[in-house]
Amino acid sequence: MQMIDNTCEKEYSCEETFALLDEYIELSLTNKEAAALMPLVKQHIGMCPDCREEFEALLLAMQGQSPSLP
Ligand SMILES: [Zn+2]
Repeated sequence: MQMIDNTCEKEYSCEETFALLDEYIELSLTNKEAAALMPLVKQHIGMCPDCREEFEALLLAMQGQSPSLP
């Protein structure tokens, strides 16, 4: 993995995204405008498979659905 050092004005790192995932998911569960309120999180999740995976796992957990867990 290569760190690309062109942090433009509007991009979150994985760390920043991860720190906001909880909040973002909570928002998206209670408020359909999560993506509008935190567009950079959505953007990062859209680009980063790692964070998307984490997002989906957390989302499932917070929804109380864990179909494939023992
Ligand atoms: Zn990421």
